[in-house]
Amino acid sequence: MQRNSRSADPTICARCHQRGTGCCKLLPGTEALLFGLTPTECSAIASHTGENIDTFTQSDIAPPGFVEALRRIHPAFALTMPQGRRTHLRIAEGGCHFLGQSGCRLPEPVRPFYCRLYPFWFTPDDRLMLLRSATCLAQENALTVYEALARLDEREDRLREIFTAWLEVTRLLQKASGVQGQSPCL
Ligand code: SF4
Repeated sequence: MQRNSRSADPTICARCHQRGTGCCKLLPGTEALLFGLTPTECSAIASHTGENIDTFTQSDIAPPGFVEALRRIHPAFALTMPQGRRTHLRIAEGGCHFLGQSGCRLPEPVRPFYCRLYPFWFTPDDRLMLLRSATCLAQENALTVYEALARLDEREDRLREIFTAWLEVTRLLQKASGVQGQSPCL
């Protein structure tokens, strides 16, 4: 999300947002499709912004079909939404709490892992993949994941580093006691 500064086409994310389909905005009916945050991500944002976690997140139960679809992409997704309980970025007027006039108000290293990786992810056997979206301009008519990678001037090794950090955080969640039955950030 919000990759404008590094993009080979610096306007691609801005154009996507201008047409109302950017990944930091939400189309009506897609509110349920939000990713679960981990305590590591919530704490990093709270430390940077000085905001209480409750100010920029909301907690709910994710639709079982959504959790299952993500779990099929990568089993670690389920660890961020135990029994479907999920803490996600707060949404206001169809957009993320942190979406400002010029894009994301958070510096890149403070953003949630998902925001830093999207529209890319990795398979359980460590292959780069696209989280397919019919509205993402970067992957419109892209025949391969590498075509989208080039459009965004992104690097696979950089993405793998971010993904590895996310995996480590989800492993900590798995080890932590008391996570079961609670939204991860509570
Ligand atoms: S935190 Fe930033 S990059 Fe992530 S959804 Fe919100 S505005 Fe977009």
